[in-house]
Amino acid sequence: AIVLAIETSCDETAVAIVNNRQVESSIIASQIPVHQQYGGVVPEVASRQHLETINHAIAQAMDQAKLSWGEIDGIAATCAPGLVGALLVGLTAAKTLAILHKKPFLGVHHLEGHIYATYLSEPSLEPPFLSLLVSGGHTSLIYVKECGRYETLGETRDDAAGEAFDKVARLLNLGYPGGPVIDKLAQQGDPQAFTLPEGKVSLPGGGYHRYDGSFSGLKTAVLRLVQQLEKDGKEVPVADVAASFQQTVARSLTKRAIACALDYGLNTIAVGGGVAANSGLRKILQAAAAEHNLRVLFPPMKFCTDNAAMIACAAAEHLSLGHTSPMTLGVESRLALTQVMKLYQSAG
Ligand code: ATP
Ligand code: FE
Ligand code: MG
Repeated sequence: AIVLAIETSCDETAVAIVNNRQVESSIIASQIPVHQQYGGVVPEVASRQHLETINHAIAQAMDQAKLSWGEIDGIAATCAPGLVGALLVGLTAAKTLAILHKKPFLGVHHLEGHIYATYLSEPSLEPPFLSLLVSGGHTSLIYVKECGRYETLGETRDDAAGEAFDKVARLLNLGYPGGPVIDKLAQQGDPQAFTLPEGKVSLPGGGYHRYDGSFSGLKTAVLRLVQQLEKDGKEVPVADVAASFQQTVARSLTKRAIACALDYGLNTIAVGGGVAANSGLRKILQAAAAEHNLRVLFPPMKFCTDNAAMIACAAAEHLSLGHTSPMTLGVESRLALTQVMKLYQSAG
């Protein structure tokens, strides 16, 4: 099916058209420069920016794909989770287009988008598989049983992986977003330079949780390290700190993902979310997976962070199963992945 999707859950206004797993067009208008002057995303400003950008982005996506409205089979938008005002802009635009062009309409859970982003690089991937979701707001191990049926097996007890990258970048004065900057610096640093805690979660009876992790202790350890170096009057070797931090995150995620895949007998790990772009994670996870005869798959680099192609891809999966959403569907700031089927009614 050919699906046009809109993603406006946070600070990217994105529109894409996907023909099953092939991207026909993808527009991503980032608001990062607008929010940078406030030091973070301002919800009211985000909504306004989406409103100003959305129509042009839709036109551009149609233009790039060289398709007519008659050729589109469905229209989708992210409806949860995210900033309510921001989500409303995309959802309302999608509903309007669906009514105007008499097309099926689908609301999509943002994290389902991140999960299915790997489909854009792997046309043959089908559930069951293990999703390692590592984004700005989430760090989860999700058992993907079939489209719409998920079980969360592990998660972070505090900061998300992307959040840890952003916080460490901030304390090293590297700016926002932190992931790409740390990734680049790490490539010139020594990952062995500093030993940092991997964020294991202790179990009451002793030992450690196999799938849950924690990243706030790691962030604090980096802060202490930098403070100590400064106190000693030493220059902070930023590249070495970045490399050591990145390797610690990558190892911690890799250990838990591999243990989980082996325990559940899942031979494929599909990674999703902004941190899936990280070169350290890609290398360390690939190597560990090969050792255990597991397959690890990543989305194309540009579809790791927020985009609408991944939303279109998830919507195409639902549409192929006959799932569509009612026009009365609203947006939700929070929605568990286990609740996604309440967004759909079956055709018939
Ligand atoms: P969520 O999807 O959980 O709501 P989000 O949409 O903000 O959160 P994404 O867009 O998936 O998150 O990812 C953004 C995050 O990815 C940021 O924290 C950013 O620092 C991080 N990131 C991006 N590129 C890299 C990279 N190369 N290495 C590490 N982290 C990265
Ligand atoms: Fe996201
Ligand atoms: Mg974002």
